[in-house]
Amino acid sequence: MEILTNYIDGQQASPLGGAYIDVFEPATGQVYAQAPRSQADDVEAAYQAARRAFPAWSQMPAAQRSDIMLRVAALIDNHLDELAAAESRDNGKPVGLARRMDIPRGAANFSYYATAALHIHDEAFGLPGQALSYTTHKPLGVVGCISPWNLPLYLFTWKIAPALAAGCTVVAKPSEITPYTAWRLGQLCAEAGLPPGVLNIVHGLGPEVGQAIVEHPGIKAISFTGGSATGRVLAQTAAPMLKKLSLELGGKNPALVFADADFHAAVEGVVRSSFTNQGQICLCSSRLYIERPIYDQFRDALVAQVDALKVGDPNDLSSNLGAVVSQAHFDKILSYIQLAQHEGANVLCGGQALQIPGRCANGWFVAPTLLEGLPIGCRTNQEEIFGPVVSLQPFDNEEEALALANGVDYGLSATVWTDNLRRAHRMAQALEAGLVWVNTWLLRDLRTPFGGMKQSGIGREGGTEAIRFFTEPKTICISE
Ligand code: NAD
Repeated sequence: MEILTNYIDGQQASPLGGAYIDVFEPATGQVYAQAPRSQADDVEAAYQAARRAFPAWSQMPAAQRSDIMLRVAALIDNHLDELAAAESRDNGKPVGLARRMDIPRGAANFSYYATAALHIHDEAFGLPGQALSYTTHKPLGVVGCISPWNLPLYLFTWKIAPALAAGCTVVAKPSEITPYTAWRLGQLCAEAGLPPGVLNIVHGLGPEVGQAIVEHPGIKAISFTGGSATGRVLAQTAAPMLKKLSLELGGKNPALVFADADFHAAVEGVVRSSFTNQGQICLCSSRLYIERPIYDQFRDALVAQVDALKVGDPNDLSSNLGAVVSQAHFDKILSYIQLAQHEGANVLCGGQALQIPGRCANGWFVAPTLLEGLPIGCRTNQEEIFGPVVSLQPFDNEEEALALANGVDYGLSATVWTDNLRRAHRMAQALEAGLVWVNTWLLRDLRTPFGGMKQSGIGREGGTEAIRFFTEPKTICISE
């Protein structure tokens, strides 16, 4: 069994308290590794290393910082197959998906922000005859990055790379449920020549090591992605400390399908947006609103396509869905399916756990599930399930579609399927979501701001937003 380590001051380090957490392979339900169950003293060691590394890293010429980060990106790329297999084993996602999406995005996060580091610049504001003001952007210092289990390397690097590009040093914590590729990232950073202490990775439980990072008085800001309930706990800790926070939280995302949409593209798009990664992407659609004239036809086409999805061994390249991430999450998803039935749902397809014969017989597999007949106000339509469970409902006009789409506390993303350009603009303007896709889904341009409205978060990541988060402007005014 593999024993993972923390990565502190450029070294692989065992947790000071000597305690470990079991790491499971969701496809088999078996423990295959152990990760450190670190505590506040490990965070302190990580912080001290990051504090020592900060002066040299923040003052290093941007081109040199950029080169090191490009080497990390290249190493992730060079280890594509190995990292994809590891991500799939750790998370349960199909290995093909990890190879196409998770690992390339991990590399892209590093290469994108490696080049962004070259474009951070000061601004000058002249008042002719009076003064010249200029604004510099100073890295904050040591920052904390905390990420979830659904896109492990993808989201971990999405926070770390901009922090490093901005000149900060980092104490980072991946999810305790999926620690493996974060462990490998530490090794690849050392191989790339990242100076010791610039990135420190501390594994462990959220309320223990995560809380210790948020509470640490020397850690200047926290970039967090996870559930809205956890986000609230972080905010309660950080607010009295006046600590800067970026919160990327949960979603309950609508997809609106209008009768004028390209029917086949919409069916395919909705299947993808609902069930990719077993529905465990914060941007997945979990509420489908379909214009009444095409409702029956669309629902039947959807059921046919969803029935044809193959749920199976994540190692099998023909599997469309793999396992969900943990026993606890499997139980949660099944309890929501039961709740939905209790709330009056008609189960169109799926609705149960699946047993996959062979090596995956004890894995956590859930059939992709379509429900109909539920009102907007019920818990199934209001609460984030974060699994392969989607609820369908017809609508009669744009006004009703908007009321349904906006009728939840979340506001992360929304998808609109229509061939009417004016309608696309109208809907996009009125939807309460940080990101609206029209006739596509999950097409991400790393330059664009990313984040949610309402209970889906505070702040934005991506592009210059993340660099702004990890830096602090200072204005200097000089009299002429
Ligand atoms: P989670 O909130 O349980 O955990 C996220 C991370 O926070 C983990 O590393 C966890 O250990 C840590 N944590 C838990 N308690 C903590 C505490 N008190 N202090 C500091 N850290 C703590 O979320 P999860 O179950 O890992 O992930 C699923 C959730 O993440 C879903 O709600 C999903 O929508 C959300 N998510 C959001 C986005 C986005 O960009 N908005 C992206 C992916 C996932």
